[in-house]
Amino acid sequence: MTFDCDVLVVGAGISGLTAAFQLGRHGLAVEVVDAGSRPGGVIGTEHSDGVLYERGPNSILDTGPFINDILGELGILSERVEISAIAAKRFLVRAGRLNALPTTPLAFAKTSLFSAGAKLRLLKEPFIGRAPADAEESVARFVVRRLGREFLDYAVEPFVAGVYAGDPAELSVSAAFPRLHEIERRYGSLIRGQILGARERARSGAKAKNVAASFSFREGLQTLTDVLARRVGRVATATRAMRVSRDSDGTLLLDAEHEGAVFQKRARALVLAVPADCAATLIRDFAPDAASALEEIPYAGVVSVAQSYRRSDVLHPLDGFGVLAPRVEKRHILGTLFSSSMFEGRARGNEVLFTTFIGGRRNPELLSRPDEDLAAFVREELAALLGAHGAPVFSAITRWPRAIPQYTLGHLDRIRRAEQAQHAMPGLHLCASYRGGVAVGDCIRSGCDTAEAVARYLGRK
Ligand SMILES: Cc1cc2nc3c(=O)[nH]c(=O)nc-3n(C[C@H](O)[C@H](O)[C@H](O)COP(=O)(O)OP(=O)(O)OC[C@H]3O[C@@H](n4cnc5c(N)ncnc54)[C@H](O)[C@@H]3O)c2cc1C
Repeated sequence: MTFDCDVLVVGAGISGLTAAFQLGRHGLAVEVVDAGSRPGGVIGTEHSDGVLYERGPNSILDTGPFINDILGELGILSERVEISAIAAKRFLVRAGRLNALPTTPLAFAKTSLFSAGAKLRLLKEPFIGRAPADAEESVARFVVRRLGREFLDYAVEPFVAGVYAGDPAELSVSAAFPRLHEIERRYGSLIRGQILGARERARSGAKAKNVAASFSFREGLQTLTDVLARRVGRVATATRAMRVSRDSDGTLLLDAEHEGAVFQKRARALVLAVPADCAATLIRDFAPDAASALEEIPYAGVVSVAQSYRRSDVLHPLDGFGVLAPRVEKRHILGTLFSSSMFEGRARGNEVLFTTFIGGRRNPELLSRPDEDLAAFVREELAALLGAHGAPVFSAITRWPRAIPQYTLGHLDRIRRAEQAQHAMPGLHLCASYRGGVAVGDCIRSGCDTAEAVARYLGRK
């Protein structure tokens, strides 16, 4: 048997690059192919005349020691920048005004973000029974049942829009928020579980997403994917994978195309780290049901709008992470990050940088609006919410028609069906944000786990 490499990784986003890097650490010969013009997938940092903005993700949640292990191994721990202390404050819009999200029980008791009725309703939570073990609930149903409608509208719905660009009525609580589901199952109450779970995490060194700190890099998030790609070495861009098959001797084959030329790669194992619809196309010939399951996974589209204003043109102190706009407030935006308050060096001297997200499952129709309309919506919202007057001095719009996979009702069953492809073709591994979490930290963990599984398969462990 002849191979081009031990493992071929398709997709050079954070999932694929992490898997490839970790496989290299096992002493395996790895190659990566990606259809894009540069590695990184949706992670993309731009520098424009003194402005540093992100087209995709803006920060990574530090949810466990595995992240720093990789940064240390890559030699970029010193490039890491922590989110500023003021960004601990997060705002939500209610009745057209910004309200700080309470972070202590006392602040919760005092906040005008929730009515007295909603606060009292929370006291009932520990006494509400578990959902039946076999019932799959939407996030919306779960939250209304345990915490009440107002908590859904003014806490969970905007948060879900911020993380998934999603709709809590569509998302499955066990797939999208497995920890919440597990807390109810184990402790019978979210409040009780929060207290007892914190003790367990303190022992294991893991951090819950709601308390983990966010970070980036001095030169933006692309530092991570650039260094990963350099360390992996063999990353072919502008190379589109077309079909996966298997030779009679068991070798895995990938048909790919580069600048119009079609060629074939041979490997002992293959990692598909591409979005679900792309993976479906690649495996359809030998695993049609797995391909259908992957195709059924919906994605949310998002537009990211980076805009700088003169500091003197913005009335709000911008003393926080940003603001989320609940659906019930009927605004044009999902939320805005105060990017230059989060990290230093993002805006020019006397300016501030915002990153605003539009669309999602809430307003998919906005994705087809022209750039001028989107820029105008953002400008109107920033004026109304933050007192940002005049015109932005810098503006950049990035469209992501398929930004984030949605873990909707039935998702776990779809993933089980998709995994059949791995049984139909031993040596094939699926690794991407439609599985194991959509956050960058989740994708890093999935990449590490996939590398372990491949190394085991190839007898390296
Ligand atoms: C606008 C936006 C903001 C976000 N904000 C945050 C945030 O602040 N924090 C956070 O933790 N997460 C955030 N996320 C989520 C997170 O960034 C993503 O879930 C994660 O980066 C996905 O990584 P991935 O490697 O799985 O996929 P991708 O980055 O999508 O990479 C997949 C790769 O596959 C390649 N590919 C596709 N088809 C083929 C083919 N046929 N052949 C070869 N290659 C192919 C693509 O070119 C791409 O490079 C955000 C996402 C978006 C879109």
